[in-house]
Amino acid sequence: MSAYDYDLFVIGGGSGGVRAARVSAALGKKVGVAEEYRFGGTCVIRGCVPKKLFVYASQFPEHFEDAAGYGWTVPQASFDWQTLIANKDREIARLEGLYAKGVQGAGGETFQTRATLIDRHTIRLEAENRTITADQILIATGGRPAAHPALPGHEHCITSNEAFHLAELPKAIAIEGGGYIAVEFANIFHGLGVETTLIYRGTEILSRFDMDLRRSLHETMEKKGIRILCRTVSEEVKRRPDGRLDVRVTGGDVLTVDQMMLAIGRQPNTEKLGLEVAGVELSPIGAVIVDQYSRTNVDNIWAVGDVTNRVQLTPVAIHEAMCFVETAFKNNPISPDHDTIATAVFSQPEIGTVGLSEDDAAKRFDELEVYRAVFRPMRHTLAGRDEKMLMKLVVDALSRKVLGAHILGPDAGEMAQLLGIPIKAGLTKDDFDRTMAVHPTAAEELVTMYKPTYRVKNGERVD
Ligand SMILES: Cc1cc2nc3c(=O)[nH]c(=O)nc-3n(C[C@H](O)[C@H](O)[C@H](O)COP(=O)(O)OP(=O)(O)OC[C@H]3O[C@@H](n4cnc5c(N)ncnc54)[C@H](O)[C@@H]3O)c2cc1C
Repeated sequence: MSAYDYDLFVIGGGSGGVRAARVSAALGKKVGVAEEYRFGGTCVIRGCVPKKLFVYASQFPEHFEDAAGYGWTVPQASFDWQTLIANKDREIARLEGLYAKGVQGAGGETFQTRATLIDRHTIRLEAENRTITADQILIATGGRPAAHPALPGHEHCITSNEAFHLAELPKAIAIEGGGYIAVEFANIFHGLGVETTLIYRGTEILSRFDMDLRRSLHETMEKKGIRILCRTVSEEVKRRPDGRLDVRVTGGDVLTVDQMMLAIGRQPNTEKLGLEVAGVELSPIGAVIVDQYSRTNVDNIWAVGDVTNRVQLTPVAIHEAMCFVETAFKNNPISPDHDTIATAVFSQPEIGTVGLSEDDAAKRFDELEVYRAVFRPMRHTLAGRDEKMLMKLVVDALSRKVLGAHILGPDAGEMAQLLGIPIKAGLTKDDFDRTMAVHPTAAEELVTMYKPTYRVKNGERVD
């Protein structure tokens, strides 16, 4: 009989926490999980899922336009923001229920409350005004949009959290940030007919992605009508008498918009969690510091997901949770593998990418072969859409290993998932070459680029 109320108590009912709770409960452990807001966490409630639903919604105007080339006459379309929000909310509520039920069905207990640590084995459940004890504790409290207190008028700004619940669709929006959330929302709002400006302090959007993708996406977004201001920051946001906002940016220009969205990064949720009293070490930005097995410096307290500020993606949080369960409860220590993670940006066009960018590969390998194809996807031909698709393979010339694959165009995210397997497996360009193409597809280009477009030797491009 355990000396504690629970074998495992999880704080945070998001992607990582729910997975760890459900799988541990299914092993027969006595498990509790506390969620202060809504089960499902960021991904389900105000991240990946509602975002992707918005992406779908925002793509219809182009589909309607493209239909004409295929012989369709589409009557004048109209859009109702409230319908989208209501339908999205219904779907999110359904998923939320499934997440909580998943834990309960496996024998775990769910608590709708904020939870904080009192000491290394004791947790306070605030809404229930009581404490419980647990042998093992998992911190899976995720993160939240970074605030920007230094910006005068920041209180008038929204973040991605509010963007999912706006009472009205703005006529004009400014979005500050150059990461994937800022870029995705710029495309969403533009697609829904909102006059959109992206403000980014860096030289090019989407740092850390392959430069080819970054530049090509930037160009395409501008061609569609999204205004992108790089090397620019907002300096002041003022509410006008008519309720709109004046956003003054670098150089003194003023943008008048209905909403100003900040997407300048995310911050780990560790404040007032009691981590200090339990003796858990935090990084300077407040992330929980863990070892390779997701264990903190206090040996019964673990942390997974965004709160550890390793790689902030849902599948990563889930993978870390699975490794935690193996390590803590199955006597099978496994450390999460953060190398070569396939990922997508649901911009329009979409990005799918896995492995090293050309620039990163050039720093690590003496000689690269770069295979690059730019073409108009078949679906755009009859539609008359002048939008190109980009595919690129970065190959180590010596070992022939494919180091990175980068795609911009329709369904790039789906392709990246599949490319993640051969690239993770370390397959070579020769393996790609002897793979039969699937015809007619856009993806066939990935196995039919036989000659390098150029080489990179000691960091220099040679044609
Ligand atoms: C707009 C947006 C779009 C995104 N799109 C993608 C995408 O397309 N693909 C992708 O892979 N990732 C995406 N992400 C990232 C993804 O959502 C996160 O990486 C993922 O949700 C992290 O899971 P987690 O379990 O670490 O934390 P979360 O899912 O954030 O869950 C943490 C939970 O803990 C709760 N909590 C916090 N403190 C307490 C407390 N003291 N007591 C009780 N409960 C507490 C929170 O309410 C929250 O529900 C997106 C994120 C955002 C914001």
